[in-house]
Order: sequence, then structure tokens, then C-alpha cells
Amino acid sequence: MMTAHRKSNGDIATSFVRRHIGPSAGDVTAMLEAVSAKSVDALMAETLPASIRQAAPLDLGKPLSETEAIAHMAELARQNQVFTSLIGQGYSGTILPAVIQRNILENPAWYTAYTPYQPEISQGRLEALLNFQTMICDLTGLDVANASLLDEATAAAEAMALAERHSQVKAKAFFVDRDVHPQTLAVMRTRAEPLGWNLIVGDPLTDLAKSDVLGALLQYPGSSGAVRNLRPAIAALKAKGALAIVAADLLALTLLASPGELGADIAIGSAQRFGVPMGYGGPHAAYMAVRDALKRSLPGRIVGLSVDSRGAPAYRLALQTREQHIRREKATSNICTAQVLLAVIASMYAVYHGPEGLMQIARNVHRRAAVLASGLRKLGFAPLSDSFFDTLSVDAGAKRVEIVARAAAEKINLGIGDSGLRIALDETTTPATVEAVWRAFGGTLAYAEIDAETREALPDELKRTTAFLTHPVFHAHRSETEMLRYMRKLSDRDLALDRAMIPLGSCTMKLNATTEMMPLTWPEFATLHPFAPREQAAGYHALFARLEKWLCDITGYDAISLQPNSGAQGEYAGLLAIRGYHASRGQSQRKICLIPSSAHGTNPASAAMVGMDVVVVACEKNGDVDVNDLRAKAERHSDDLAAVMITYPSTHGVFEEHISEICDIVHGHGGQVYLDGANLNAQVGLSRPGDYGADVSHLNLHKTFCIPHGGGGPGMGPIGVRAHLAPFLPGHPAAKADAPVGPVSAAPFGSASILTISYIYILMMGGEGLKRATEIAILNANYIAARLDPHFPVLYKNAKGRVAHECIVDPRPLKTTSGVTVDDIAKRLIDYGFHAPTMSFPVPGTLMIEPTESESKAELDRFCDAMIAIRKEIAEVEAGRFEIAASPLRHAPHTVHDIADDDWKRAYTRSEGCFPDGVSRTDKYWCPVGRVDNVYGDRNLVCSCPPVSDYAQAAE
Ligand SMILES: *Cc1c(COP(=O)(O)O)cnc(C)c1O
Repeated sequence: MMTAHRKSNGDIATSFVRRHIGPSAGDVTAMLEAVSAKSVDALMAETLPASIRQAAPLDLGKPLSETEAIAHMAELARQNQVFTSLIGQGYSGTILPAVIQRNILENPAWYTAYTPYQPEISQGRLEALLNFQTMICDLTGLDVANASLLDEATAAAEAMALAERHSQVKAKAFFVDRDVHPQTLAVMRTRAEPLGWNLIVGDPLTDLAKSDVLGALLQYPGSSGAVRNLRPAIAALKAKGALAIVAADLLALTLLASPGELGADIAIGSAQRFGVPMGYGGPHAAYMAVRDALKRSLPGRIVGLSVDSRGAPAYRLALQTREQHIRREKATSNICTAQVLLAVIASMYAVYHGPEGLMQIARNVHRRAAVLASGLRKLGFAPLSDSFFDTLSVDAGAKRVEIVARAAAEKINLGIGDSGLRIALDETTTPATVEAVWRAFGGTLAYAEIDAETREALPDELKRTTAFLTHPVFHAHRSETEMLRYMRKLSDRDLALDRAMIPLGSCTMKLNATTEMMPLTWPEFATLHPFAPREQAAGYHALFARLEKWLCDITGYDAISLQPNSGAQGEYAGLLAIRGYHASRGQSQRKICLIPSSAHGTNPASAAMVGMDVVVVACEKNGDVDVNDLRAKAERHSDDLAAVMITYPSTHGVFEEHISEICDIVHGHGGQVYLDGANLNAQVGLSRPGDYGADVSHLNLHKTFCIPHGGGGPGMGPIGVRAHLAPFLPGHPAAKADAPVGPVSAAPFGSASILTISYIYILMMGGEGLKRATEIAILNANYIAARLDPHFPVLYKNAKGRVAHECIVDPRPLKTTSGVTVDDIAKRLIDYGFHAPTMSFPVPGTLMIEPTESESKAELDRFCDAMIAIRKEIAEVEAGRFEIAASPLRHAPHTVHDIADDDWKRAYTRSEGCFPDGVSRTDKYWCPVGRVDNVYGDRNLVCSCPPVSDYAQAAE
């Protein structure tokens, strides 16, 4: 490791703050002038209500330079111990091919991309996700898969909820295989309890027939390793009209009959072992696949095929109308941020290995497990099941402690179950590992000898006979050169932060610094199993403790849970805490949740998931919450009021004056205040939710705290709470088993490995730097508002004419004068080389823009110039140069098909279309497809790789 030269942190040359914040000192002066503010302090005073301003500065210690931060992380890494974890329980050692690690996981073209809502600039990652879905459909033998869910345990809970909606059995009872992973069961209990569903745990082969249940979750192979024939259990369930869900291991499925062939309706599981490091819990992609009849109920995002303006095939997110923003409290799931980057990695692992490669890996792993079993039998420890894939359970009796200790001396972790020991092998297992396990069990055996006398242990009746991954994409990239170029080709199709500003409101697409991204792939952070003994993860725990302390200081809360894997999961955990608190005071009837009409769609969806009844509070014309309406509704529901969920600064991008009053009203009626802190970027260092009256918030670390968006995930949504809610933070069977509220994630610290990113960010910024970042984020937003307002009016400002960290511009009047839609503007921005702002949220027909502090004045000006040039194009329509339907706005985005069109008959020139004002001919970003047809894609749902012939036909 490099040694830090420990010099002044304030030094401009080594200061990270100067690298993170876009505008220079000169830029700041110019922008202050443009917004008519005397100073940054004066601007803040005009933006935030004085009553909520934070008194004391953040106390986060001195900032480190990038070099010093890396040295510090190396010290933390040394406190983690890299053991060989054979614990299993849904997490396996895996080998991430180096070409994928460097070109996806460590490549900003992939990790800084946004969720692919704008399909034209997202074709690369959409193709990778379609490969993921194809892989999942093939391996599970089911018809439609999503991409993706947060982890296996929450996927199981989502599947249970899906089954509840579709089952013909009306009983509110659900059966869970006693051989599921314990954390899966725990998360399902958390989800079932508020909804009044009863979980029955038992042996599916003997207990299922007697149970009147709406559905069942069966694990395949079981958590113990046993491979059981689930066909009879599934048939019995289906005969009653109940749904069968199978949690399946993807690697095992390369050799075993698929869940679909066994009769399952739904399959779920984790794609972690397809190349994604364990990372002490995550992030990893979970999957869900369903029979065709259930596809319109599938939670999470689904990539589908559609056509573009020239009729060529184009990918897009399908069925977007199911998202929470539309369905709100009627949404059946709150999943928003998912695990896109990890699904991409898993799909590339399959592209890299192909079906033969995956089967070879599976056969090797199985071979090692079979040899291990033979040896253990010789040593008097016969595995409990004769049929297994890669995991063995043995009853070690009184020798258990001794064996675990001897294994630990060999730097091996075994799985410790209720009644015995578990040994789960994986693709990293070598003969030497197997011999070391034998030694732990008290015998010295030679792998080669035992190998010669061992037969495989997969039951004939369950062997896979069907082909999978037959699509050419899984066959054409076996050389590293082909693989490298395939990944490069896909990323070249996309527009991510490595090319241009992504001015999305509510999503904070700021810098994800390279230094912040480095440690998470170091083995000391990447290879730890989430259930490894705590003392092996001392570095991680030191990091968690410090990060929790910092986040408490930043938010004014008393305690933090690092468990939730996304903002929406944080909302869910926060509402569970509120629910637990009311119940502990004998107030379980408090079930009303007040939510302003402008709230993010996940808010009402999360409230519904904890069994709360949503009552919508009106907003005033200026966008503020209607305090009178809120007061009236709080009064009306005084006895039953559970909470208000309020976003601050508001989703309209303004610091409302009445926030403290709102908190007081709700508290006065016995309710709790949930403050949606996804957008803390306007507050860090300036104001603290815990100070001005909120009881609980989630913080999206993938927004404010620099975890990259990954093309739609991963994320982390820790929650902060005031002391009275701290006992009701999520527990976990592996950490706090006796907590009154159960876990919301499979792993106790969620996606632990990416917490390193936020940690390093805070470490390098320090308190002053973070405050400066917030100020510049607000200055940048006000600068954009000032520049655009004469062209596209800014919809909401506070009484002093200021916006917070984002602003909404309103092109709706132009629809009347020209016919231009918000879509036209968004797509035309692509021609100028920009990702569109957030469209139609929270106000339909408008654009929400959030520049963040990381964008320089030059980039802000480039964006504003593009918007102003677009306004001129709209003026041309207004002036009658051409109809909107014939304008470059409606034909946007323009592609190479346009510039090369020999039959050009448009009312504007090709260069007006392709190279509008200010666009460089040298550095032009070309999106690969024209405007994508949304309706077509939903009518003709195709969610796995189409045959290559489809492309050939379309190209003709
Ligand atoms: C992003 C966001 C959320 C949801 O966060 P996810 O991580 O996508 O689940 C919730 N509320 C607001 C205001 C947000 O901007």
C-alpha cells in the first residue's frame, strides 16, 4: 500500500473538497452575481428558514486527502480477516472474472449510469439486463423474470405477497419450508406480521398436505444442502389452488431440473454466486421469475422489447405504469432502486462462461462436495442427506465446538446450525480446502485417493435434461477480446456521468469519486461472508460505528440502522419502528398515515406494506403542504394517527417555512413524524431533521453520500431515529435476534461493502467540506433557476424567490402555443448530449432539475444553453416555421440513421437535427435508437432475448 505523505489537509493541491465540488472560487462569485446574492451565507439565509438552521458546525474530524484516505482504509482492511467461509446460507465464494471486474464493476461508464427510464440512452445496460432476465428464465424454467430485487430474503417476501394476491385459497396462512435460510424466514415474518398473515413452518414432504395455506416457499437445494424431490409437494399445493414458490440456487440449476419443470409458479433467489463478491452481505442481485399468467404482478423492474421511431427493435423498461408513482398506496411493492449493476455483473458472468462453462463449474463444485462427503463418512461423520449439490450438513454431536475451533485454526469458517454443522463449497474450493476440512473433523485423508472411489450424489430423478442459455449471446464471447469488446460496445451505447451531467431532480447524480470506489473490491472488504464471526470483521465494525456516529451528527438523530438496502426499504423500516413504538405503548390502533399529495410514490407504497391506511393531505398552489388540511385531518384521526410522511425540502424543491409547525401538529395528536430524507443533499451541515421535530428519516446513501447509481442500483437507505424509536430499529437473527422488530434485509448491515464509499466521502470532505457541498448544491440550483426562468418559468420558489437544491421548470404553457410535450424536450436534450431531467414528477408535464455541487459552472452553462436553444426551437414552431410533428423536437433523438438518410424529406436540415446549437461534431454522443414506442412494448411484452432473426428482419 502507498504511504500517505502527511501534510496539510487544507492544501489546495491535496484537498479532496476542491475535486468534489465543481465550481471554482471565481465561478462561485460569478454565479452569486447571476442570482443576485451578496454571498453564499446570504443566499443560504434567503433559502432556509432561520428557525431550522443548525447551530453548531458538524463535528466530523479533519478531512483526509485521497492518499491519506486510502492509507486509512488499508488500516481498516487489515483489521478484517480473510477466512475461507464455507458457511453457505445463500452466500458463496465466487470468482469475478478480472475482465468483468475492471470493465464493469470498476468502470464509471457502467456504475455511474442512472436507472434506464430514458431508453434511448440506456440501450447498453438494458441489453445486459435482458440477458439477465433470459438467464433467469432459462435456469428457472419459468416464463418472465425481472431485473432485479434487493436480496433473496426480500424476494421471498415479495413472492409471498404476490402469491397472496393470486391464490385461490383464501386462508391468510403461508407455508415456509423449515429448510429455508434462517434470514429468509426472519424477513418473511417481518413482512407477514403487520398484514396479519400466519406463517406455518414445517417439512414440505410431510406437513404441507395437512396445512390450509395460500402458498408455500420451498428451498431447492435446502439450506442444509439436501436436494429433495419437491414435485409431490408442489402438485399437492397446486391441486388446492395455492401457489408454489421455489427459492433456488442458480448454479445448482445448471445440473438440476428447474423449478418450472417441478411445477413451481414462482422462483426466487440470489444471483450472488455468479461473480458478485459476498461483500459482508452485499450488494447482490436477487431474482424473481414467474409463470406467464403472473407476469403483470411481478414486482421490480422488467426490461422488455419495443420498437423505435424507425421500427427497429429497442429495449425499454416494460409496464412502467405499475411503478409506485402511479399506483401509490395501491402499489403492491415499494421496490424502486434495485440491484442493476450486480444483475449486469451476474449476466456477464453467464455471457463469459456460457452454459458449458457454468455446468463445468457446477460439476467441479459438486465433485468436491461428493469427495468431501466420502471422506467425512470415513471419519464417522456421515452427511445427513445422501442427495446434495454443494452443501453438506453433519451431526457433529459433542465434537462440534472442537471441530469449529480446528477449522478456524485452518482459517476456515463452517456453518453452525441448530443441530449440526454445515459445509458449503463453491467455485473457489480447492482439494486443499477439502483436506483441511477433514483435518478439522480429525482425519488426515488425501483428496486424490478419496476422489477415485467417489460417485456423484445428485438424484437421477432430479437431473436437468433441458438446455439453457441457448441464445448466441451466451456463446459468442468466450475469448477475453470478444468479452472486452462486448462490454465496451454496450457501455458506448449509454450516457452516464462519465460523459455529461445527469440533471435529475430527486436523484442527486453527483460525483462518485474514484478513490471512494477503490477499497470495496479489496479482498478484505469483498470476500467476507455476512455471517462470519464478528471478530473477523473488526475493520468493518469500526467503519460501521464511525459512520453511524457521523450520520447521527449530520441528522441530529440518536441512533442509526445500516440495514435497509434502499430508500424505500428505509421507509419500510422506519414505519415499522413507528408501528412498534405505538404498539409498545398499547396504541396499536394508530394506523393512519398522512401523506401529502406531492410525496414520492414509495411513501404510500411503504405505508401500505406495514398495514397503515394512507390519508392524502392536499398541497397549496405554491407547492407547500396545506397546513390547514393537515391540521383538520390530524384532528379527525387524532385517536388513530400513526404518522405523517413528509419530504423535506419538499418534492417541489423548496424549504417550506412550516416544517416545525407540521411536526408539532402531528405530535400533538400522538403521531410520529417520518421525514423522507432521501434528498439530504440540501441539508447536510445546514439543518438537522432530528433538531426541528422529525422522529425518523431514511438517508439515501446512493444520492447524497456518493454511492453510484449503478444504472438503477445498488443503494443503501439507512434510517436515523430519535432515542425513543431506537429499540424498534430492525433486528436480525445473526445480530440482534431478540429485537422487537424483525429484519428488513437478508444481511444485518445490508449491502455492507458499499458503505465504504459513503464512509470515504465523509472522511475526505470533513464537516466544513460537507457544508460547503450543500451550499454549492443550493447555489448551482439557484443559478440554473435564474438562467432558465426567463425561458421556462420556475414553478416553485420560496417567499424570497429561492429554490433549494433542485428546481421545477414548467413548459406546460408551451404545449398550448406549440404542441411541444415534456417528452419532446427530454428527447431533444439527448441530441444536445444530455440526459433528461426528471419528467413529470412531482408535477405532470414539468421537468425537475438538480445540478448537485459536483457540476462546474461550465457544465451548468452548457446545459442551460441547450435548454435555451430548445426554447428557440419551440419558438420556431410557435412562429409557424413547421408543425410540432414535423419539428426536430418531435423527431428527437436523432441517430446515425438520420444523418445517413439518403431520402431526407424533413422540414429542417440534417445538421439542424443532428448537430443543434453548440454541439460538437467531434464529441457528439449518438444514441443507438430513435424515440422508443412505449405503448407497443407493453402491448407486446417480450422480456427475454429475442431470436437474432428478429434483428436481421428489422435491419432490412
Ligand atoms: C429516491 C427517493 C426515494 C426512494 O429511494 P430508493 O432508494 O429508490 O428506494 C424515496 N423518496 C424520495 C424523495 C426519493 O427521492
